Amino acid sequence: MNQFLSRRTFILIPTMSFLKIIFKPMQVLASSLASKEEWNFSKDEWKARLSPETYYILREEGTERAFSSQLNNEKRKGIFHCAGCDLPLFSSDKKYDSGTGWPSFWDSIQGSVETKVDFKLIVPRTEYHCSRCGGHQGHVFNDGPLPTGKRYCNNGLALTFVPD
Ligand SMILES: [Zn+2]
Repeated sequence: MNQFLSRRTFILIPTMSFLKIIFKPMQVLASSLASKEEWNFSKDEWKARLSPETYYILREEGTERAFSSQLNNEKRKGIFHCAGCDLPLFSSDKKYDSGTGWPSFWDSIQGSVETKVDFKLIVPRTEYHCSRCGGHQGHVFNDGPLPTGKRYCNNGLALTFVPD
C-alpha cells in the first residue's frame, strides 16, 4: 500500500505543477496581445477608441446577445473588418446563415485571425482574435459547412462591414 501511494504521489505532483505552468498564463491574459507594436494600446487607450459595448467584446472577450447585430442579416457583397484596427477579416462570399443569431463564416481571410483555447464555459473552446490588434472576435467550431467544416461564430460588434 505504501509503495502504491508513493508511486501515485510521484506521478501526481509533477503532473500538477506541469498543468499549473500551462494554465496560469491563460488565466492572467484577459485578451490577446497585439502582434504589432503600434496596436499595443493600454486599457485606457482602448476605452477611448471604442464604445463601451465594443470594448467589452474586443478587449474583455465578451459575447453580444444572439440576433442583436444587424450584421447577422447582412447579405450584400463586401468585406468585414476588425472593429478595433480595421484589418479585413472575412469576405461576404464565405458568410452563411448558421441560425445561431451571430454572423457566421466558414473561412477567414488568410492570416487575419489567430486562435487560442479558452475555458470560460469550463469546456474548452477555440477562441479567435484579430491577428493585428489582438481584439477578440468570437469562437470557431467544427460544425460548419464544407469545404472547411468550420463555423466562425463572430460578434457583430467586433466587425465593421464595407460593401463592395
Ligand atoms: Zn484588429
